[in-house]
Amino acid sequence: MNGTVSCRGLVYIYRLEGYDVVALGGVDLDIAPGESVALLGPSGSGKSTLLSLLAGLIRPAAGRAGVGDTDLAKASEAELAKMRATEVGVVLQGAERNLLPYLTAEQNVRFAQRAARSHGAVDLPAPRDVLALVGLLGVRGRLRQRPSELAPGERQRLALAVALAHKPGILLADEPTSQLDSRARDEVIAALEGVRRSGTTVVVVTHDPAVAAGMTRQVTIRDGRVGGEGSQGEEFAVVGRDGAVHLPPDVLALLPPGTRVRVHPRPDGTVLLAAATAAARPEYDHPDDHPRHAQPTHYAREVA
Ligand code: ADP
Ligand code: MG
Repeated sequence: MNGTVSCRGLVYIYRLEGYDVVALGGVDLDIAPGESVALLGPSGSGKSTLLSLLAGLIRPAAGRAGVGDTDLAKASEAELAKMRATEVGVVLQGAERNLLPYLTAEQNVRFAQRAARSHGAVDLPAPRDVLALVGLLGVRGRLRQRPSELAPGERQRLALAVALAHKPGILLADEPTSQLDSRARDEVIAALEGVRRSGTTVVVVTHDPAVAAGMTRQVTIRDGRVGGEGSQGEEFAVVGRDGAVHLPPDVLALLPPGTRVRVHPRPDGTVLLAAATAAARPEYDHPDDHPRHAQPTHYAREVA
């Protein structure tokens, strides 16, 4: 279905001379039409790789990824090209990379519509309507200016317009506010919200908490997997397909890697994680030990 993303156990490996880098090690992620999702996480965690996969620019090594009606693992090159020209709009990191420097703003949008037309797209929006969607129409004279003549925030919004020129179901943007001042950033956030309201699914890689807060959902990538989720101000850990859970940083400070924990489901639906360090406390090492003998460290909220 248009505007949907569905990933199951998605794996991507960069093959370098002599060794491999597993950039994504089993991503499970579903995104519904009309959602806006911030992809957060430390540098090198796999955010850009995930975005490139969803954009059909690279192919998964294993697992499943569906974008709209396209199965990325099975699609032919021609089907992938069609998906890129119709279903997804991509904004690469760095606005200039998405724009042709010698064309005006309006011409850039018009040019981007050509590829979609060659794949049979009809009913494309007027370039001015696309520019209006990102708030560039009201700015006098902007339509006839070249990218270098625009302010940085306007240039970034023009990159959004170019990605939206063919009316994709999904907009994918990598760090669209890096190097912008707070006012320009807020304009980009407002443009992204307008895009979502127009019915386009929005997926944005960002380091900026303000951008993340402007999305309906926040997904944190850690070590090439979905490490946690937030929505409406609440934080959730996510149980992976193998049953593993990435603990949030504040819990990880209490239960550092290598800690042996007992996991006790409780009658009230919460789950108790209790550290049991065998070497230091042999008396806690027996499976029949009652949890109250161990040190309670954290009540994990059950995610229904
Ligand atoms: P993020 O966008 O979260 O910073 P990336 O998706 O760029 O993370 O990178 C994930 C991992 O893949 C990192 O370990 C990174 O070093 C590696 N990586 C990214 N791009 C390449 C590449 N072109 N060749 C080799 N390794 C890469
Ligand atoms: Mg990146």
